[in-house]
Amino acid sequence: MKLVIAQMKHETNTYSPVPTPLARFAAGDAVPPEGAAAIAAYKGTGAALAAFIALAEAAGAEIVLPIAASAWPSGPVHDAAFEHIAGRICAAVAQGCDAVLLDLHGAMVTQTYDDGEGELLRRLRAIAPTVPIGVALDMHTNLYDAMGEHATAIAGYQTYPHVDMYETGLRAGRAILARLAGRTRPTMAWGRQPMLPHVMRQGTADSPNRELQARCREIEAAGALAASVFVGFPNADIEYAGLSAVVVTDDDPAQARRWCDELLALAWAQRAAFVYRPEPLAGSMARAQALAAAKPADSGPIVLLDHSDNCASGGTMDTMTVLGAILDAGLDGVAAFAVFDPAAVRQMIAAGVGATVTLALGGKLDMPAIGLKGQPRTVTGRVRLLCDGRYRNLGPMARGEVNEMGPTAVLDTGKVQIVVISNHVEPHDLAAFTAVGIAPERQRFLMLKSRVHWRAGLGPLAHAVVECAGTGVCTSDYAALAFRKVRRPIHPLDAI
Ligand SMILES: [Zn+2]
Repeated sequence: MKLVIAQMKHETNTYSPVPTPLARFAAGDAVPPEGAAAIAAYKGTGAALAAFIALAEAAGAEIVLPIAASAWPSGPVHDAAFEHIAGRICAAVAQGCDAVLLDLHGAMVTQTYDDGEGELLRRLRAIAPTVPIGVALDMHTNLYDAMGEHATAIAGYQTYPHVDMYETGLRAGRAILARLAGRTRPTMAWGRQPMLPHVMRQGTADSPNRELQARCREIEAAGALAASVFVGFPNADIEYAGLSAVVVTDDDPAQARRWCDELLALAWAQRAAFVYRPEPLAGSMARAQALAAAKPADSGPIVLLDHSDNCASGGTMDTMTVLGAILDAGLDGVAAFAVFDPAAVRQMIAAGVGATVTLALGGKLDMPAIGLKGQPRTVTGRVRLLCDGRYRNLGPMARGEVNEMGPTAVLDTGKVQIVVISNHVEPHDLAAFTAVGIAPERQRFLMLKSRVHWRAGLGPLAHAVVECAGTGVCTSDYAALAFRKVRRPIHPLDAI
C-alpha cells in the first residue's frame, strides 16, 4: 500500500498587508521541507500530519511525503507559492498511489483562487479520479463546494484553541484506511449558513461553540465517521466565508444529510451568541488598573489581550495602540508578547545587551485595506536579552513543533518588558516566554497579541482577562472591514 501524505496550511486574511511568498512556508529555508526532512519535522508532534504518518506506519504502508508547507496567517498566498506546493503534491499523486491524506487549513486564498484547497483537490481529482482522499481541516475553514465534491472524507478540529489536530488527523485517516480495507464506504453531506461568527466568540470553552462541538462528538459516537462544524474565518472577503458543517457516514448519505442539517440548524439558532461587542480601550485600561489594585499577591497575571493584532489571524503584529495605552497608563510589571519589528531587533543587536536604546518601535506596516498607516511608538529601554528565537512548543497546542521567532530581543522599559521578534509567532505556549527568560506566572500583566489560542498554554495562569480593542487587520469591529465579495445577506452584517 502506498500513501501520499502532505500538508498545505494557510489561513488567509484578505485584508492583511503581510505578504505570503513561498519563503513564509519554509521557516528560514528556501523551500518547505519534503520527504525525510518533513517526516523528521512532524513525526511525534501534535499535528494532523503526524497522525497520518503514525497511521501509515502502523499499516505498514509506503509513505510518500512530497511537501509539508505551513505558514502563519497573512495576506493572499502568492501564486508562485501555491503552484510550488500544489505542484509537488500533484506530481507525487501522478506517480500513482492507493490513497491521499492531506493536512490542509481550509481558509487559503491565493492571488488567483478564493478557495485554494478546493483548487488543489480539483487538480488531484483530475489526476486520480477514483483514489480516496482524506482531508483534515482547521475549524476556521471557509467551506467551498469543491472541497466536499472532491474529497472522500473530511474531518475538522473540534477544539478552539486547537488542541486536537492529531485526533482530527486520526479521524480523517482512519476513514480512508478502512475504505482501502473494504470495511467502509465513506459518504459526505455538507452545507453552510449565512453567518459570520466572530472569532472572539468561537472558543470551545464557552457557549455556543462548546455545545456545537459536543454535538459533533455525539454524532460520531452514534456512528458517523466524522462530524465537523466549521465556525469559519471572517477576516476573509470571499463569497463563502462563514459557518459550515460536514458529516461523513459509512454508506448512509441520508443520515449524513440529516446530521449535517441538524448541526447547521443548531448553529443558526445561536447566531446572536456569536456576535462580539468590543469594549472601548480607555475603559479596558481603567478596568485593568482596578483589577491590579484588587489582585491578591499570589495570584497569576492579568492578561491584556490585544485581539485586533493577532498574527495567527493575519495581523501585522506591529500595531502599537494597546502597548501604547499600557505605557501611557504607567502599568507596571508587564511582559508584552510580542512586537514584530526585525529592524528594531537589528538596532538592539548593534547596541548590545545592557545598552540603553531609544527606538521607533513597531508600526512599520501600513494597512491600506482598513485605511490605516503604520504608527511607530518611541520607546526607551534597556536591551535585556538577545537570542535566536527558536523554541519547541510544550503543548497542548501544536505540541512538539518548533517555532522560529528569528532574531529576538527583550526591551525593558523598567515597567514593561517587550519581546521584539523577526518572524510572526503567536503566544499560545508557555515556551514563548520561557525561551526569552520571562516567567509569565510572576508578571502582574501579560500583554498578548492573540485572540483565543493563548488559552492553550497560558490560560491556566491567568487571574483575569481584559480584552483590549486596539487596531489591526484582524480588527474585532466588522464595520472597519469592507466586505465586497462575501455573499449577502449574511448575519450579522445584514438583518436576517
Ligand atoms: Zn484555526
